[in-house]
Amino acid sequence: MTTEPRKRILTGVRPTGSLHLGHYVGALENWIRLQREYECFFLIADYQVSDHADDISQVKGNVLEVATDWLSVGLDPEGSHFQIESLVPQHAELTTWLSWWVPMGMLQRNPTLKAEMGNLADGESVPVAFFNYPMMQAANILMPRAHLVPVGEDQLPHIELTREIARRFNRIFNVDLFPEPEALIGRVPRLVGIDGNAKMSKSLGNTINLKDDAATVTSKVRSMYTDPTRLRATDPGHVEGNPVFMYHDAFNPDVDEVNDLKERYVLGKVGDVEVKTKLAAALNTFLDPIREKRAYYEAHPREVIDALAAGTEHTRTVAAETMRQVRDAMGLNYLS
Ligand code: ATP
Ligand code: MG
Repeated sequence: MTTEPRKRILTGVRPTGSLHLGHYVGALENWIRLQREYECFFLIADYQVSDHADDISQVKGNVLEVATDWLSVGLDPEGSHFQIESLVPQHAELTTWLSWWVPMGMLQRNPTLKAEMGNLADGESVPVAFFNYPMMQAANILMPRAHLVPVGEDQLPHIELTREIARRFNRIFNVDLFPEPEALIGRVPRLVGIDGNAKMSKSLGNTINLKDDAATVTSKVRSMYTDPTRLRATDPGHVEGNPVFMYHDAFNPDVDEVNDLKERYVLGKVGDVEVKTKLAAALNTFLDPIREKRAYYEAHPREVIDALAAGTEHTRTVAAETMRQVRDAMGLNYLS
């Protein structure tokens, strides 16, 4: 009996800091759920942090930090491949080839790229590498010929770009090399930040991190943006669009408690302090097992490095095969 090879997932994170609650509900939860069903390539995209060029000294620590977070939430490096992007140089090679078929305008119109560039300095000083990062992400996804990309909603334009590039390459060279990858969006497509900003994001500094200790979580929750129209606990409040209730919905499994808080909030019968105290408790219960696993990996850093080394090495062999096929398709295998 032959067994079908598992379909592949490629997804990843930029090494710009610790992972946070947004990552969990937007992406990680799906990675954990699907890691046995699919062959997973989990990428740490260290080529894609040119907006952090001023603190390049942080990148190495951040790479290890991300891998430690992954292990702490239960990603299993035995059945999947953790990889460091710049140690698989074929990513740069494929980006260069594929960029032949991507017009500038296609990147200029990309709404996520536009918004992120808006957060940086004036357009003139945005590094070329930053402008180009969605291209490189396309190369990351196409490298293992992935079928599925579980990500947060902000990544949708990049997956669309990747699908377009896959179609173009296959059509131009009359091959069936790249599957058109599907996006899979998480339970919460875009978790708001604790400051009320539309997206919790490492670079915006509005996160609750998976590694935050209980006291830090409690103090961050206390500082959270709630309903700006509500001045006193007796004022009727708004639940809709209120980050504190969005987090309750996402992380508090006690639905009765959440519904009771919501009912009292709109009637002006509960203060922010109680709502926030209950949220902090729910978050800390959710984070406790992750913290426990993290303590283990912090005490065994070699296991983190071994996971990265093994996955990266395997990915290089997969990448070499893809590049052989890419060059074959283009008729550029000069020496064979
Ligand atoms: P940075 O600000 O440095 O870009 P980030 O917080 O946006 O960091 P990324 O490494 O860019 O994190 O994103 C990794 C994955 O997590 C992506 O799939 C992204 O869509 C998802 N993600 C990040 N933030 C959120 C969020 N707030 N809600 C849902 N998904 C998110
Ligand atoms: Mg990001």
